[in-house]
Amino acid sequence: MGKGGGALNAPVRRAAPRAFVLCLIAALSADRSAFADPVFLDAPRESDAAFRSPEALRAALARDALSREVSAAMREAVAKRLARVPAGRRLLAGIAGELPPICFSDGRDVAVFSDRLEAVFVNCRYAREMPGAPASDCRAALRWLLAEPKRIDELARRLDNTMAHELTHWRQHRLLGSGAGLPNDGRVTEMELEAKLVENEYYLESAERDPALLRSSLPRWKQQTRELWLLSWAPSDYLDATTKAYRSTTPGHATIPLSEALSRPSLSDRDRERLERMKAYYDGALREALETRWKVRSPEGLLLFAGVARRRCPRVARSMADRALQSCADPRPSPDLSRVCGDARRLSRGLAADAGEDPFCPRNSPTCNFRLADFQAVCLAP
Ligand SMILES: [Zn+2]
Repeated sequence: MGKGGGALNAPVRRAAPRAFVLCLIAALSADRSAFADPVFLDAPRESDAAFRSPEALRAALARDALSREVSAAMREAVAKRLARVPAGRRLLAGIAGELPPICFSDGRDVAVFSDRLEAVFVNCRYAREMPGAPASDCRAALRWLLAEPKRIDELARRLDNTMAHELTHWRQHRLLGSGAGLPNDGRVTEMELEAKLVENEYYLESAERDPALLRSSLPRWKQQTRELWLLSWAPSDYLDATTKAYRSTTPGHATIPLSEALSRPSLSDRDRERLERMKAYYDGALREALETRWKVRSPEGLLLFAGVARRRCPRVARSMADRALQSCADPRPSPDLSRVCGDARRLSRGLAADAGEDPFCPRNSPTCNFRLADFQAVCLAP
């Protein structure tokens, strides 16, 4: 797992990024189709011309009472949901509480924020898949959602990590704009990395409140759990895998790092200036996130996993607590890091005394061997 020589050996390293990359590609491959046919348009009466600008989209939304009401209800439910934990509150404060329209469409992504149209598009499948919802018709599913406030709240719960990610793109868009001749609505890798860090921090805080999330059988949650694990265990590996995954989208639409965007010979002065501004922001913001925030969050994440895994896999749990302790070599730890290190020491000592069996760590071997999927299935089981 890159640097750091933890107790877990190579099989973990090989298994984690592969599953992660495959899933990300699946989630990203339809970046454009997700909002090609928003449900509030009564196609074929309307044409794509309606979507040339945010204003045109808002005008179309204003004409469609059902979509307008669902958008308003979702914005309220999402804001309420995100505000439960500090990472969500920080995000909402960063966008001054002003959420973009939330529209439903039958694309393939979970959700996408369109910089061009300044709106979030959610795949209607997630409304149609709600228990009891009309499964075949998006508009019928939206009417069903509106009939009971708790249904919208449940949908917001199911999509909250994703909404934290997409709303980070909304904050970025308001702060720095987009475009600069870039593909994917003007995204660069750094924007995705920041959104991923916010999404995972939100998930970490949610799972600390409700560790059962780590055991969820829903594929989206299982994927999020894998990502949080990898980000906690080896942040630089996680960032590399994320960079590669976003790069590997449809040819011509790959998300590229800012440095590469800036080296293109065809850049106009205006685009160069915008990219330079983005670079100044992300150089600081990502460094701050990794060197300050995730320096504490990574060991905190490992302790969360260790706490849940200790019953079934005590030796794996101890290797995670020991890995968390590696962060404590910092000569001048922050108060937050000191607190996490105290927890890691206590847990490691407690687990050292545990004589329980562990399916993945032979007693006479210094390393534990497991695939991440097996860790999820066995060690995180109730
Ligand atoms: Zn994104």
